[in-house]
Amino acid sequence: MAYDFDLFVIGAGSGGVRAARFAAGFGAKVAVAESRYLGGTCVNVGCVPKKLLVYGAHVADELEQAAGFGWTLEEGHFDWGTLIANKNREIERLNGIYRNLLVNSGVTLLQGHARLTGANEVEVEGQRYTAEHILIATGGWPQIPDIPGKELAITSNEAFYLKDLPRRVLVVGGGYIAVEFAGIFQGLGADTTLLYRGDLFLRGFDGSVRTHLKEELEKRGLDLQFNADIQRIDKLEDGSLKATLKDGRELVADCVFYATGRRPMLDNLGLENTGVELDARGYIRVDEQYQTTAPSILAIGDVIGRVQLTPVALAEGMAVARRLFKPEQYRPVDYQNIPTAVFSQPPIGTVGLTEEQALEAGHKVQVFESRFRAMKLTLTDIQEKTLMKLVVDAETDKVLGCHMVGPDAGEIIQGLGIALKAGATKQQFDETIGVHPTAAEEFVTMRTVTR
Ligand code: FAD
Ligand code: NDP
Repeated sequence: MAYDFDLFVIGAGSGGVRAARFAAGFGAKVAVAESRYLGGTCVNVGCVPKKLLVYGAHVADELEQAAGFGWTLEEGHFDWGTLIANKNREIERLNGIYRNLLVNSGVTLLQGHARLTGANEVEVEGQRYTAEHILIATGGWPQIPDIPGKELAITSNEAFYLKDLPRRVLVVGGGYIAVEFAGIFQGLGADTTLLYRGDLFLRGFDGSVRTHLKEELEKRGLDLQFNADIQRIDKLEDGSLKATLKDGRELVADCVFYATGRRPMLDNLGLENTGVELDARGYIRVDEQYQTTAPSILAIGDVIGRVQLTPVALAEGMAVARRLFKPEQYRPVDYQNIPTAVFSQPPIGTVGLTEEQALEAGHKVQVFESRFRAMKLTLTDIQEKTLMKLVVDAETDKVLGCHMVGPDAGEIIQGLGIALKAGATKQQFDETIGVHPTAAEEFVTMRTVTR
């Protein structure tokens, strides 16, 4: 049977665009449908605008440090409207770049919501298209627990378009987004409280990292409340919001920001017209080559709920394009040792096993840990400490994990990701000459076993 397209991609986000462009480059006839924004979550309401706001908040640190370097500054004034307008302009520029990337690679771009009408058929704006392969790359969507008053709360989607910076913010959650946005709101001047339901935020990260970040955020005056969960939200007469906690306490703020995880975006996708099944957590079930339970349909990215990071969605998109249209170049995605950063203030960079994971996996573990005041701060009154940590297998000498909390952690951890992928040993770390004077050199000069 002749199909309209070799590959029909639903969703022009990180994964979808990568798969579509490369498939077209390999000679396939490709269409992409996008209902909302080119570039998806990352470009529009994720990584990119988030990082721009983090940079904005970080300016406050630079201003605070300036006096130590001899600078006398007039009292600064921050204007949220300017930051958001400039951010929006940059996002629009990127949307245009994504459009060009697709169109110049020969991909047919369809604007509108796509709905599966069969295992080889998709409907967009009343028009039906057939395709030999269909790729679902529809990403995720924020979810707020079902509590009374949840409609009064916002998520990251809305935070990027707030008209004004709220004066008092309650951030709910203890994952990447909660910690990053708490830093953004607080850095830009809002009175910020982070509420997390457990004992300590960032579950799954290394224990030293979690404790260290907690201490540093508290030094910065962020109000961290653990074992705290909101039971209901009510609007008060003056327009502010009252959050009643499960323990009966009441907190009043101008904005309640939820970052309590994301669900797969499957709304009106028409999965019922196909044989695509979901896994126990509600994400699309795929095999190791991203094939769903319907043989002609594949899925990648946040919608399969493996690792919700842009570079992972990109790698999965590339793997799918190669598997379908350039099988001789196919390589499976390596999910081991994925480096990642949390752009908190200060940021976290991490790759490989945490100390807890290494012990649980049965390794005999040696830990090297260093805490120091960054050189840049020595001319200031700021007492922030940087944490660096290596988790090493005592028997093989292999470095199992590298963890950092401190300025430029994301930038530093990227290179260590290569070292871990190459299977570097602690001895090879030790034999690597440091770059002096940097914070990063500490990773190759830690000699004393901490435990
Ligand atoms: P998406 O990028 O979400 O793309 C899915 C696209 O599909 C969307 O454009 C959507 O409109 C479209 N779509 C959905 N349904 C349909 C339909 N039926 N028809 C047509 N189109 C449809 N990751 C990092 O690596 N680093 C970061 O710093 C980072 N920061 C983040 C900050 C925030 C606030 C958030 C929310 C996420 C962040 N992420 C970050 C995660 C990253 O954005 C995602 O992992 C990544 O975007 C997933 O890519 P994807 O292709 O699976 O989906
Ligand atoms: P996460 O899954 O990282 O964190 C969700 C947080 O919300 C956890 O602390 C969780 O607690 C808590 N939570 C979940 N359900 C509830 C509930 N019902 N009530 C109270 N608290 C709850 O999700 P995020 O929304 O922060 O981010 C989604 C994903 O996007 C991230 O996992 C990451 O993959 C990606 N991302 C990446 C970034 C980066 O690379 N820098 C930045 C932002 C997002 P508990 O731990 O107890 O379950």
